[in-house]
Amino acid sequence: MAKYVFVTGGVCSGLGKGITASSIALLLKSKGYKVFMQKFDPYMNVDPGTMSPIQHGEVFVTADGCETDLDLGHYERFIDEELNYTSNITNGKIYSSVIDKERVGDFLGATIQIVPHISNEIKNKIYEAGTSSGADIVITEIGGTVGDIESAVMMESLRQFRLEVGRENSLFVHTTLVPYLFGSNELKTKPTQNSIIELRRLGIQPDIIVTRAPLDLGEAVKKKISLFGSIPVENIIEAKDVANIYQIPINFHKQHIEDIILKQFGLKVTKSNLDTWENLIKTVENLDKEIEIALVGKYTELEDAYLSVKEALKAAGYKYNTKIKIKWVNSEELECKTSNLKDVFKNSKGIIVPGGFGSRGIEGMIKACEYARVNKIPYLGICLGMQIAVIEFARHVCGISDASSREFDELCPNPVIDLMADQKAIINKGGTLRLGNYRCQITKGTLAYKDYKSEEILERHRHRYEFNNSYKDLMSNKGLTISGVNPEANLVEIIELENHPHFIACQFHPEFKSRPTRPHPLFDSFIKASIENKK
Ligand code: GLN
Repeated sequence: MAKYVFVTGGVCSGLGKGITASSIALLLKSKGYKVFMQKFDPYMNVDPGTMSPIQHGEVFVTADGCETDLDLGHYERFIDEELNYTSNITNGKIYSSVIDKERVGDFLGATIQIVPHISNEIKNKIYEAGTSSGADIVITEIGGTVGDIESAVMMESLRQFRLEVGRENSLFVHTTLVPYLFGSNELKTKPTQNSIIELRRLGIQPDIIVTRAPLDLGEAVKKKISLFGSIPVENIIEAKDVANIYQIPINFHKQHIEDIILKQFGLKVTKSNLDTWENLIKTVENLDKEIEIALVGKYTELEDAYLSVKEALKAAGYKYNTKIKIKWVNSEELECKTSNLKDVFKNSKGIIVPGGFGSRGIEGMIKACEYARVNKIPYLGICLGMQIAVIEFARHVCGISDASSREFDELCPNPVIDLMADQKAIINKGGTLRLGNYRCQITKGTLAYKDYKSEEILERHRHRYEFNNSYKDLMSNKGLTISGVNPEANLVEIIELENHPHFIACQFHPEFKSRPTRPHPLFDSFIKASIENKK
């Protein structure tokens, strides 16, 4: 049977619970244990797929096509393991599954209640993560803050879970804040004490406390938390603010968090192998060059809306010892007549147009894409960014001035991006996009082939619209190369331009497969070309 670590959060959100959970998983993996991760989100949406990126940040997509919270991106980047449908559980998923069971008569005769029906369903999802992954240790993060009404039933399920499997199979890590007060000039433990009390009120005594603080705690502060929280001093792990998040696992390792966990589980405390990670930190801290990349998007007011893209750009930069400075360009602003593109992109060595939905800001993206094509600036288009490139090419190179996507203009006379027949019948918005891994065959001799060095790849998707194949010949004749195609449905996956130093765009999301120590080939070559761009 798997062992289970639960990571809860107290005091306030934004303390880095996701990074704490990922760091613990990474440290356990570095000791040779097979780990799996899971996130519980206490909202009523079935998944974040229908939520605004401006409110909720990026939607991360797993290989098997689950639309998930962006924390799963951190998990995959830290532990370098593919997660799946069992990795992101929401209240919406739990409730709808219980109600579905009730409707088909599974509980015949019973009154359906939060306890035990909802709590059983939650516990089943935890057990399922252990059994289906075959992991030695499952790390489950609970979203929100202890005491929230939304997460109450999840906490109750964890209390029951501990009772069922015992302390030797389950462990609670609680992350809290230890603020510093100017004036009295001291660190304050009361918020931490109160949040431990709140957790106990729900029947859970934490085993480890992770304290986020701007300074070292010092012995006196630790002793106080230990006394009031009933936590051994050595189980108080300091998460002091860091400039570079990759430092956190190493800081935790120095405080032996993984050994404390393994001992409680009765598992062997083996030697850690953190070489790759330590090298990564060295690289990140010694970047000696810097380039600016313009990211032209419609959700630029929230950087988290592009979290994986940002991380993928940074990772590719590490390979070339280069710090990537992202210039966030709101595509809507490019639409105003007074905006001067030359001015906006004057320091940008490359332009990236990432994913997005809906017609707002589209014309600005088309302008940016045209600017990159005409001025021979390296361009990387991702999903919507590929559709933009196709529309731009159709309008300005092929002379189809009314070319557009069916998404932006339903009656468009020249939908170079269109809905496929199977999507036309779909009414429900949730979970019905083309999601997850699909195959892509790459033509030899293309830029894509040079990047991937393979004739067949697997990439993650999240979109509804596609390149319209009836324009294939026309565009190919004008210099647009289709370098990647999905063999099953004959869908265009990658396009690139002749007569341009580096112009490539893909219908999938390569950013989800990038890792800090292993940049994705498309980001790698885009950053390389941008560094080489002398303009
Ligand atoms: N809106 C486009 C589509 O649905 C692109 C989606 C995306 O960029 N993820 O096809």
